[in-house]
Amino acid sequence: TYSLGPKISTWDEDRKTWLEKNPNFPSSVNGKPRILLVTGSQPNPCDNAIGDHYLLKGVKNKIDYCRIHDIEVVYNMAHLDKELAGYWAKLPLIRRLMLSHPEVEWIWWMDSDALFTDMTFEMPVFKYKDYNMVIHGYPDLLFDQKSWIALNTGSFLFRNCQWSLDLLDAWAPMGPKGPVREEAGKILTANLKGRPAFEADDQSALIYLLISEKDKWMNKVFVENAFYLHGFWEGLVDRYEEMIEKYHPGLGDERWPFVTHFVGCKPCGSYGDYPVERCLKSMERAFNFADNQVLNLYGFRHRGLVSPNIKRIRNETVTPLVNVDQFDIRHSLHHSI
Ligand code: UDP
Ligand code: MN
Repeated sequence: TYSLGPKISTWDEDRKTWLEKNPNFPSSVNGKPRILLVTGSQPNPCDNAIGDHYLLKGVKNKIDYCRIHDIEVVYNMAHLDKELAGYWAKLPLIRRLMLSHPEVEWIWWMDSDALFTDMTFEMPVFKYKDYNMVIHGYPDLLFDQKSWIALNTGSFLFRNCQWSLDLLDAWAPMGPKGPVREEAGKILTANLKGRPAFEADDQSALIYLLISEKDKWMNKVFVENAFYLHGFWEGLVDRYEEMIEKYHPGLGDERWPFVTHFVGCKPCGSYGDYPVERCLKSMERAFNFADNQVLNLYGFRHRGLVSPNIKRIRNETVTPLVNVDQFDIRHSLHHSI
């Protein structure tokens, strides 16, 4: 049967020893656990040039957020395992990065079509001290309804530890493309509420695993819904003006969503669940909404949420440091665990 690689069983001890031997690569920085954000896209160009442009905007958005919050970024375009192509590609990638970056405490996967829309909000890592996985979702949808959208695998975190390697091993077997993925899709559709008939996807497979082996895994899985670690775009993108009027960045929830994820939009591929024009316009709005929070330090903002053009919001000054103190997001963050 399929496996992600040779079975590793002593990772916690091995990693601990490695960290002790390599004090120059500590697993925490400034008192906070070291986080590596991982994202990526397919090895080839999009079917459409505009798709590649939005992938670029997606990367710019992530670079901005991660610079502000001292998070490192990996962008992957390779298929490390031919069997696990497409949305399953994140599994071998996360495993590889855990093993190659023992200094990293949390690996954070984020889809290419998910944008940070709250540049101030910071992951409350202290909350997850006793957990190994953090994922957006709703426990009632998961365990009572067995819904295929109970969790979203577009943005989630794994602690670099043996438990996570074990979870990846348990998660992967439905992934190999071809008959295995096709047959597994039937099991998932038969067992998960609302799931259309299609090949096994990573999200449904994770939900099915956690439902089937609840006692084995759930004590280390934090199902987060106090803020939008993943926020479904449809209910959010048309409310940005209202949010700007009433609220401010840093809230992360429905008042100012941390992440806006374009689930079902496929601007890079040929088929999607929504009209491409609507997706592109909505992605543009989310990008500019976020970018305004970045441009603020430099004294600019977009002319409107659908315009790539910007305008000045402050005059040039001979005392630029006053603006640094006032507008650099990093200065208002609480640097504690
Ligand atoms: N992806 C990748 N390599 C591939 C195909 C997809 O890294 O060859 C990633 C990409 O970041 C994408 C994610 O897998 O965003 C999941 O796919 P998608 O966002 O299209 O699924 P959805 O969120 O709409 O369910
Ligand atoms: Mn996605």
